[in-house]
Amino acid sequence: MRGEYDAVIVGSGPNGLAAAVTLARSGLSVAVFEGQDHLGGGAASLELTEPGFVHDACSAVHPLAFESRFFREFGLRRRVEFAVPDVSFAHPLEGGAALAYRDLERTADGLGADGRAYARLMRPLVDRVRGVADFTGGSLLRVPGDPIAAAWFAVRSLEQGTGVWNRRFRGDAAPALLTGVAAHTILGLPSLAAAGAGLALGTYGHARGWPIPIGGTGAIAAAMVDDIRAHGGELFTDHPVRSLDDLPSARAVLLDVTPRAFVAMAGERMPAGYRRALSRFRYGAAVAKVDFALSAPVPWSDPAVAAAGTVHVGGTRAEIAASENAVGAGSLPDSPYVLAAQPTLFDPSRAPAGSHILWAYTHVPAGSSADRTEAITRQIERFAPGFRDTIIATSSRTAQRLSTLNPNYPDGDIAAGLPSVGQLLARPVLRPDPWRTAVPGVYLCSASTSPGPGVHGLAGWWASLSALRHEFGIRTLPDLAPGV
Ligand SMILES: Cc1cc2nc3c(=O)[nH]c(=O)nc-3n(C[C@H](O)[C@H](O)[C@H](O)COP(=O)(O)OP(=O)(O)OC[C@H]3O[C@@H](n4cnc5c(N)ncnc54)[C@H](O)[C@@H]3O)c2cc1C
Repeated sequence: MRGEYDAVIVGSGPNGLAAAVTLARSGLSVAVFEGQDHLGGGAASLELTEPGFVHDACSAVHPLAFESRFFREFGLRRRVEFAVPDVSFAHPLEGGAALAYRDLERTADGLGADGRAYARLMRPLVDRVRGVADFTGGSLLRVPGDPIAAAWFAVRSLEQGTGVWNRRFRGDAAPALLTGVAAHTILGLPSLAAAGAGLALGTYGHARGWPIPIGGTGAIAAAMVDDIRAHGGELFTDHPVRSLDDLPSARAVLLDVTPRAFVAMAGERMPAGYRRALSRFRYGAAVAKVDFALSAPVPWSDPAVAAAGTVHVGGTRAEIAASENAVGAGSLPDSPYVLAAQPTLFDPSRAPAGSHILWAYTHVPAGSSADRTEAITRQIERFAPGFRDTIIATSSRTAQRLSTLNPNYPDGDIAAGLPSVGQLLARPVLRPDPWRTAVPGVYLCSASTSPGPGVHGLAGWWASLSALRHEFGIRTLPDLAPGV
């Protein structure tokens, strides 16, 4: 390790790595310091249950892999092989599953009487998928590049995020499909921010699919690490940073950490007003995760669910809203919403021949120490009788444990801060450039900044562009394409 770099990055999640890629590609000397014993943060794949079963420790499915502006510039699709299931997400119901195909018309055809209404809701967004991605992929305070996409997005979010959300539907399938995606946000339902995130994710699902990296999510982090090293960057693991004073000297410091951690690291260097603003940033409810090693695929009652990479389990819109609102009120629901992914149906390399993995999590109150293995198993059994008999081994991570493993998930909040409308506009503070902080030369670049949670690298990309401009006077975008 040297005593001086042009730029130092703390944290090697997708945002920290995206920042390092962008800065190293601009010809700067770069060092990344990671507290854990492996790189990648929320983009790591590990053998959590048994040898030979490769589980995604955090993120598993990547709706933004093809739509994130950073990943497009980086040429992620040319560096990492992806499986793209025909069915982006499925939603089992008592009478058969609703399926969200990578094709809006085919999806609508399967939704019975509500098919046309669903297609009319989603069509303006699917037709302007790039505009939706660009609008939601940066600070919401910017003027949108495609104002028509932004307007449709706002109108549709108002409908699906308020009490009129059932207005256009008669049956259960279409509302359940929408609610299953909106519930990713871990917010009360209905709510504007949940609706917006759900509509954006649903749009990517119909327009491009929800890709799964072959070999596991770690392949995405590995592609960025390889690029950083190829351009002279250095990465150090087992190196938790507690104070800005512990870092080598650098003109720019980019922090892939929460505002709470930044306040602690900056100490007296942070102006009091800015510290007060960061201290007002709120964290949300949490996740309890369970990884399964299975002897066979999940025996879904409706076999069509096997075509989906992601499955939203929890029943009807009303049932899911009730369970999410219970979590918001601080209790553990009896019939929880479960988010599941079944990677080995599309990538057999992730488990020994004939066996499978299932990735699953459910929402719990912040700081919960509840092991939700039984609750998740029971909820999946409801739509896949016999599931329990396929289980070889499990690995459970409570909300508390997730928080200990990665300080960016305080009390198990995997969004690194409540993704409410207020905190999506002011993430973490209300500024057109929310990544540049009041501490000179220091930038925040984690999911606690715009555009928020997810594996997209965009917070790191925007923060590094700001640092390039303000600290180094560089205004040209570096070429991030493979082979350059
Ligand atoms: C269980 C789970 C499931 C998820 N599923 C999905 C999914 O399927 N798809 C999706 O798109 N997103 C998913 N996410 C969210 C996604 O993983 C995160 O939003 C994303 O990883 C955020 O990236 P980041 O770089 O901001 O932070 P992180 O990926 O959290 O990385 C932060 C890194 O910084 C390190 N760090 C923090 N503080 C310090 C310090 N002081 N010193 C040194 N190192 C430090 C941490 O150890 C960590 O490695 C999931 C997250 C979890 C936890």
